[in-house]
Amino acid sequence: MDLPVDEWKSYLLEKWSLLPISVRLAISTAKTLSDVFLLSSSLLQPEDEIFLKRLSRGYLVGKDPGAPLFYREEGNKKFQEKDYAGAAVLYSKGVSHSKPNTEDISLCYANRSAALFHLGQYETCLKDIIKAQTHGYPERLQPKIMLRKAECLVTMGRLQEASQTISDLESNFTAKPALADSPFQSLQRNLHHLKMKIQEKKNLTETFPAALAKAFEDMDLREENEQISSASSSVTLCTDPLKGRYLIATKDILPGELLVKEAAFVSVLNPGEVQPLHQALDSKWSTRVTNGDLYCHQCLKHTLATVPCDGCSYAKYCSQECMQQAWELYHRIECSLGGLLLTLGVFCHIALRLTLLARFEDAGEIIRKLCDETSHKDIYLPESKNMVKTLNYGQGESEENGNIVQTPIPGCDVNGKYENNYYAVFNLLPHTENHSPEHKFLCALSVSALCRQLEAASLQALTTNLESSKLKAAVTPEFCSDLDIWGVAMLRHMLQLQCNAQAITTIQHIGSKENIITDSRQVRLATGIFPVVSLLNHSCSPNTSVSFISNVATIRASQQIGKGQEILHCYGPHESRMGVAERQQKLRSQYFFDCNCPACQTEAHRVAAGPRWEAFCCNSCRAPMQGDDVLSCGNRSCTESMSRDHLVSRLQNLQQQVDMAQKLLRNGKLEPAIRRLLGCRHDAESFLSAEHTMVGEIEDDLAQAYAALGDWQKSATHLQRSLQVVEVRHGPCSVEMGHELFKLAQIFFSGFAISEALNTIEKAEKVLLVHYGPWHDDIQELQKMKSCLLDLPPIPVGPSM
Ligand SMILES: [Zn+2]
Ligand SMILES: [Zn+2]
Ligand SMILES: [Zn+2]
Ligand SMILES: [Zn+2]
Repeated sequence: MDLPVDEWKSYLLEKWSLLPISVRLAISTAKTLSDVFLLSSSLLQPEDEIFLKRLSRGYLVGKDPGAPLFYREEGNKKFQEKDYAGAAVLYSKGVSHSKPNTEDISLCYANRSAALFHLGQYETCLKDIIKAQTHGYPERLQPKIMLRKAECLVTMGRLQEASQTISDLESNFTAKPALADSPFQSLQRNLHHLKMKIQEKKNLTETFPAALAKAFEDMDLREENEQISSASSSVTLCTDPLKGRYLIATKDILPGELLVKEAAFVSVLNPGEVQPLHQALDSKWSTRVTNGDLYCHQCLKHTLATVPCDGCSYAKYCSQECMQQAWELYHRIECSLGGLLLTLGVFCHIALRLTLLARFEDAGEIIRKLCDETSHKDIYLPESKNMVKTLNYGQGESEENGNIVQTPIPGCDVNGKYENNYYAVFNLLPHTENHSPEHKFLCALSVSALCRQLEAASLQALTTNLESSKLKAAVTPEFCSDLDIWGVAMLRHMLQLQCNAQAITTIQHIGSKENIITDSRQVRLATGIFPVVSLLNHSCSPNTSVSFISNVATIRASQQIGKGQEILHCYGPHESRMGVAERQQKLRSQYFFDCNCPACQTEAHRVAAGPRWEAFCCNSCRAPMQGDDVLSCGNRSCTESMSRDHLVSRLQNLQQQVDMAQKLLRNGKLEPAIRRLLGCRHDAESFLSAEHTMVGEIEDDLAQAYAALGDWQKSATHLQRSLQVVEVRHGPCSVEMGHELFKLAQIFFSGFAISEALNTIEKAEKVLLVHYGPWHDDIQELQKMKSCLLDLPPIPVGPSM
């Protein structure tokens, strides 16, 4: 997903292997990125471009005139099944394939407004009604939509406007009596009903406070750092030859304190499992819902009511404003390149967008200068360390009052300030010397093919007499005149991304409405670049926690951090998720360093019994089993031994059993699911440690099954066992623990076990606040549960749960 699709990758790797050795050698030993780029791009042949174009055409990114009707009908089916969210998304797909100002688009918007109405999203519903009307909603259907508008306004308490809408509707009737034919009677009834409602509401003397608008105040840093934008004043930027740049605490920091709050400089939504057309055999139009259908492509906000780009079907936004912004900043150039960008992958897409954004910082000059300067230096030296002078911004080193101004830390401006800007991004390390020549060739040719397409698009825009000035302005001649320089910059960005790309994640709650316990899982939403977050070094047991709201990253202390200690963040390989060898290998191959964090040091010396959540135990005495190929019981008085292969295959069998049970659970076959899960648990007990991840998973599933049956007591008992497993693996203050406590709180809450619920809510809140801060959805939900419980009248007698 980050790199180009496999077909293009293997095509280029084959091309590489067929190159004469002398050419490969020239590229491998090229001294600068600019040489790598120029040497490689001279090898891009027309047939390569044809091959790439064929791959790109496989994606449906334009507007398909047949699609709106198809999606509207599919949406209507979901609507009939009362799956309003599902319906809304399908109507959105219809919208994205419709041309502006057509009946198609207005009908899709109108249908979507109905779905949103049922979902209680009145504000968005109103917006859709207005959109339907401005795009030419048919006269004959007007009464229906105006009635919905009135209902919406009444529900929102905007009574004046509601009355106005109703009288408009009525005058519409008298003016065009033909309208009032068949559905007239029921419409009259509805109108009457609504008027009564308005009167009722007016009679309520008490005025309710406006909706519970969530202020996002807390989201701000208490005191912003003067040296580093987006960071708190509790940290400072340091640099040294070994570590490069890093952040340390300038004072004692408490768990939960917000340290960095930074909007992505660029983010590109991960398209999800977009399949090229030739692979999706069943239908040209997919009804599958991906991230691309649910999140704004500009700000990453979740929405069921996307607004599409006028020119393509793949770019969708949460609002007109985001659409406009994206268009101005980058999309007018990307719009026609959708298929190509999907083929070349997210990194290439980000690289393009970075250079497009660079135009607004007058960065053409920066890039030219930097590329020029770096081409004279040996950029294969460890860069951040000695590049300071080379990358000095603007004037270079200068003299002021006879004193030589100290050279700033790379990425900082002349005043030593580090900001979320293109200059800082450009200074992130590409680690050119560490990437394999094949990889550099792959990136260089992909970028170069993209440049040729940009050139072609700009020529076309210049030569064709398109009245659309939008498109004409799209690719400006200045942008193309220096495509080679922009190409080198893009190549640099592609190489930087391997170490500096940040996965933007969100917590998705899975489980249908009938499920009382929502299971949450982290999903990768987008890939972004955050110059300030990039300053943090890695640890396998970090002292911070990162989370996202839309495209804004927040980093909070997850534990106490003493003054002078380094602020550390985990790049992915966390000690609770993988063993030391795997982590080391991953960090070396992706980030080019040997991790020396305390977790790695202690684990490397520990005898290899493996972590408890992966441990096998003795069949007869339950002591942990130890050893490599053959494991023997750790209890000296016991003689049990077992081959690892045997244990591993037992574990695989068990996994299959659990998978089957989960399938039953998903299909609502609760009793058979429970029977099977109890069998699995029995089996697990005979050879897995009590804290084995698999045991936790089984307990968690049992908890879910019992909750669905309404047996709160059993459900809670099983979840508490799962909680123990999570605690051993991730620690009592981990975000994973927070999610598990959240589930337990839901169970107690639904079982009206008031004191247990309040107690668990408090624990969950305490843990989650540290990681997420007060405005996260989960925290809000916990608070709602709490106030609901506190408002309940005391229940005199009854079971404890
Ligand atoms: Zn948006
Ligand atoms: Zn577009
Ligand atoms: Zn480590
Ligand atoms: Zn034993």
